[in-house]
Amino acid sequence: MRSILITGGNGGLGLAMGSHFLEQDPQARVWLGVRKNRAAAEALAAAHPERCRLLDLDVTDPAAWETAVAAVLDADGRIDVLVNNAGLHQDGLLATMDAATWSRVISTNLDATFHGCRAVVVPMMRQRFGRIINIASLSAILPPLGQTNYAAAKAGVVALGRTLAKEVARSGITVNSVLPGYIETEALGGMDEEARKQARMTIPMRRFGTADEVAAAVYFLASPQAAYITGSALKIDGGVF
Ligand code: NDP
Repeated sequence: MRSILITGGNGGLGLAMGSHFLEQDPQARVWLGVRKNRAAAEALAAAHPERCRLLDLDVTDPAAWETAVAAVLDADGRIDVLVNNAGLHQDGLLATMDAATWSRVISTNLDATFHGCRAVVVPMMRQRFGRIINIASLSAILPPLGQTNYAAAKAGVVALGRTLAKEVARSGITVNSVLPGYIETEALGGMDEEARKQARMTIPMRRFGTADEVAAAVYFLASPQAAYITGSALKIDGGVF
């Protein structure tokens, strides 16, 4: 049994990653962290009884993390993989951004990654094995205007991962970040056709990525074959530099 916890499990990338683990690894038990929306995650769990379960997990709440990880450990006796995937962006120019918008984005993307890593790292050290994969964004290294909050949060996620990777390297734990570019999910729902066309023109491959393409990379980083990869930041973006 390989125990895998994916936050934001009802979102586009979370569902794709959950499906990928369930399809590729018959030994995987996938725990999907959900918050207010859960219908799609419930459907995936119903299709894989026993192998896929839901957890109520608001990633900004440290107490919720403790409860969720305790539930995984109670059931499986271990936690092998954490994918810190839940996130959101609320774009706007800094000149008019209110402090609440800044804080919400930092809290959901960066503070939550800290809380998640903090909740699993001691159990992973005890079992002397763990894979932590943090979903950052291309915005961490190539920020578009209007994303001071999101870019700062995701750059922080990458820096957190690099630092933690060093701290746990001798405990059998790897920590890596994934930096998706434009990926076809609900997160792109706010773009009209003209904005999508312009965005595609900035991508050498001239297309958006798919959630399955991100899921495949995450699955590899979680695998035994990726044992020597840690502290890395993997761009998945069709070749943007
Ligand atoms: P979605 O909007 O489809 O999913 C985001 C998920 O995060 C939802 O399940 C949402 O739950 C959850 N979430 C938000 N806030 C919280 C919270 N406080 N506690 C628990 N869950 C929360 O987006 P994607 O699947 O595309 O995004 C997944 C990750 O990938 C994010 O970190 C995003 O920043 C990153 N990313 C995505 C890109 C893209 O092009 N799609 C590009 C670069 C990075 P709920 O529905 O209940 O609000």
